[in-house]
Amino acid sequence: MAAGEREAKSAKRSRQLQLLTAVPPYRPTALPILDERLRGTKFVALEPKSVLNSPQQTGVDFWSLNPYIGCEFGCTYCYARYAHRYTVERAHDGGRLSDAEFHEFRGPHGWEAFEKRVFVKDRLLSVLEGDLRRYFRSVGPTVHPSAPIVIGTATDPYQPAERRFRLTRGILERLARCEGLNIGIITKSPLIARDTDVLRRIQQRSDLAVHISLNTVDVSLIRHVEARSPMPAVRLRALKRLADAGVHVGLIVTVLYVLDLEALFQAAREAGARFVHAGPLRLYSAVRDRFLPMLEAQFPHLVARYRRAYEGRSGVPRDYARALAARIKQLQARFGFPVNEGMADRYGRRLAPAQGELRL
Ligand code: SF4
Repeated sequence: MAAGEREAKSAKRSRQLQLLTAVPPYRPTALPILDERLRGTKFVALEPKSVLNSPQQTGVDFWSLNPYIGCEFGCTYCYARYAHRYTVERAHDGGRLSDAEFHEFRGPHGWEAFEKRVFVKDRLLSVLEGDLRRYFRSVGPTVHPSAPIVIGTATDPYQPAERRFRLTRGILERLARCEGLNIGIITKSPLIARDTDVLRRIQQRSDLAVHISLNTVDVSLIRHVEARSPMPAVRLRALKRLADAGVHVGLIVTVLYVLDLEALFQAAREAGARFVHAGPLRLYSAVRDRFLPMLEAQFPHLVARYRRAYEGRSGVPRDYARALAARIKQLQARFGFPVNEGMADRYGRRLAPAQGELRL
């Protein structure tokens, strides 16, 4: 081979080598899409720094755990929408969502994204290991009942995504190996009955309460207030399955003005619920954007009443809260449930979080 040819070949090889080893300009990894539905919902992987949030982080009296951010059930009164918005904004600020993706992830009104872009916490179990060490360091080896762990405080842990990703099941499997915990789970989904075996194992070593969330037994009403949640009969059947299997399960009710409490208590009794906890709706500012337009469209006669009741605040007026608490006690007694017991008695300060508490 002639010298010129050799030089040309070596220059070509070194160009190829440069191309192979070249370092592209740094760009943080984009968020991987794990799955997509035909109607456009995307499931997006997100690696969290922690998954078990302490009371100091959230400002409430219990530890909280939410495997997903966003929820396809799409309840109009859901207070977790702005936590989703915060996650999307952080991903955009950190360069993990482009400007175009950011707008797409927010949706035209800002609230849709919560239902259509569901973040799935990646490497959740290894992150949980570190968090559990932090938990036991903080509460001590003998876990005091005042350090409850509540799963599903901000998004439903058994939402449709769980069928595929099984994050909640993984968490429960891990918690079943611990002793002396005080665990609460809140869900609207019958999928929880899939995990009856793990729930029973948890109960052998820890204190457990499963709260099936249901606000009405009226099928026509539920579709107005909850876009894609499971039907009341399906939730009550799941409650019955858990109760029949010996799981400590009851109903949690967010009282909207339009609901029939008596029918709910009756249904809970028939399904074998061990308790019914009920409290008034909190109308946070992020909830108003979604809830009030629905009210105007479906229940215009109630709009003035709601606006008056929640004017300048997220909670109901004190007189109404007192009257409602008395009514709930009366119904608890009448239907044979523990009286005067609510979420606050079990987990401390109110469950529906204020802005700073929405750490996911
Ligand atoms: S099920 Fe819970 S988390 Fe999901 S939209 Fe309804 S209230 Fe929000």
